[in-house]
Amino acid sequence: MSKKTIGNVSTGFAELVLEHTTDAILITDPDARVVWVNAGFEKMYGFALADFDGLKPEDLLNFEGTDADVTQQVIDALRERRPLQVEIENIRRSGETLWVEKKLIPLFGAEGRHIYNMSVSRDISERKRLEESAREMIEAEAHRQHERRLLSQISEWLYSAKSLEELLMVVKKSMQTLLPEAEGQLYIYSNSRDTLELAAQWGDGEPSGHIGAEDCWALRRGRAYSYGVKAIEFACGHVHGDNNPYFCLPIIAHGETIGLLHLCFSAFDRTIMPREFIETFMQQRWEVGLLCAEQISLAVANVQLRHELMDQSVRDPLTNLWNRRWFLEASHKEMNRARNKGSEVSLISLDVDHFKKFNDHHGHDAGDIVLREFGALLATTFQDDFSPCRIGGEEFVVLCAGIGHDEAMARAADFLEKVTQIEVHYGGTRLPRITASAGVSTFPEDGEQVLRLMKVADEALYTAKDRGRAQAVSSRDKGPKKAA
Ligand code: GH3
Ligand code: MG
Ligand code: MG
Repeated sequence: MSKKTIGNVSTGFAELVLEHTTDAILITDPDARVVWVNAGFEKMYGFALADFDGLKPEDLLNFEGTDADVTQQVIDALRERRPLQVEIENIRRSGETLWVEKKLIPLFGAEGRHIYNMSVSRDISERKRLEESAREMIEAEAHRQHERRLLSQISEWLYSAKSLEELLMVVKKSMQTLLPEAEGQLYIYSNSRDTLELAAQWGDGEPSGHIGAEDCWALRRGRAYSYGVKAIEFACGHVHGDNNPYFCLPIIAHGETIGLLHLCFSAFDRTIMPREFIETFMQQRWEVGLLCAEQISLAVANVQLRHELMDQSVRDPLTNLWNRRWFLEASHKEMNRARNKGSEVSLISLDVDHFKKFNDHHGHDAGDIVLREFGALLATTFQDDFSPCRIGGEEFVVLCAGIGHDEAMARAADFLEKVTQIEVHYGGTRLPRITASAGVSTFPEDGEQVLRLMKVADEALYTAKDRGRAQAVSSRDKGPKKAA
């Protein structure tokens, strides 16, 4: 390049500045041929003037990561001979990439003719790296906040669930929102305590209907288990195949393990995807998974507590049979159902015979033990459609849903027979055996309201007492009221 072309500044001085600046300077002619580069350019890019030998600057400096739009902006500015400043990602001779702030300046000769283009590049990789990590941090923080917000909304929903069914519905929906990459299942211990049964599932996993506690590493070891990234690890027996990473998270309520949350990431195949990638992903999800398990645990405990409280208000504490309150509500419902279906409901009203005398002779505590045994016999004799209740003192009633009069009578007589077999030992002696009496009435023939039906059953019960006790009397029995 000729010295006299650089404006009216002392050309020797100008060239000195160009040569010693740490910025990379490259000069092209109007045909985009590189005609000069400074020492700063050679240092920054590792290319010398000779390397361009007929090549345009972008042929060496750009790579597939360079933004095509920015490249086009540069080409347009050069064509239109206007200055431009851009940030662009380039590549060095070593293959290393760098971010530069590039200024393009068209240079004109004394006669106003466009003679050169100068490009000045400054390395801004460090600033870009800081910006990028700040952006990543902001994004990660925003993501965490979003997750936290979701989690708190979800925990509110979980906490307001009134029944296990409602809770399971909330769990399914929440898990799909919070961990959309995971398909999952929630297992709850069955009453028998040795297997866990599938209570809810989401996504398209292949769940086991039930699993044994010994099939799961989390349950065996009593803590959350993450599978898929460690050098030595074993898949749980309840999991199909061992290619996909997963979490097994125990659900604990009131200090007791009551279930298992299983989350599987089947889009991540360990045989195909790089281990580091899966590892990072699993680490990010681990905390969310644990928080979900914790929230579900609290919610299950809450539902159980509600259930227990409710149970206490409808159960009789001595016999654990349903109480009067439950009986009135349930019989009302059963009668409505029977009315709609055109079916029958029978009541067996029961009363222990001469119980006052029994108490007087043997004491109230002995009386209680006998009542408890009487209750236990009722519970084992009457199940499914038959609901035995203690409605007060030594008075009981069996609500027989969908049961006709004759069957109820037969069941009552059968029960009274069993009552005479009850044996109770108290204070080292065997207490005398007891008997009970029963009266039976049936909806709709004997009445359409609960209280009416009870009154009819009680009248039959009084008849049984009057006829000498230890017997069942039907509401339809028109025989003598008293024993002959
Ligand atoms: P009947 O054959 O006519 O039914 O005579 P009864 O003595 O059983 O009838 P009554 O209604 O006169 O007395 C009921 C007695 O039941 C009164 C009370 O001593 C006793 N009783 C009621 N509730 C309880 C209870 O919770 N525990 C005990 N131990 N006794 C009770
Ligand atoms: Mg009584
Ligand atoms: Mg009595």
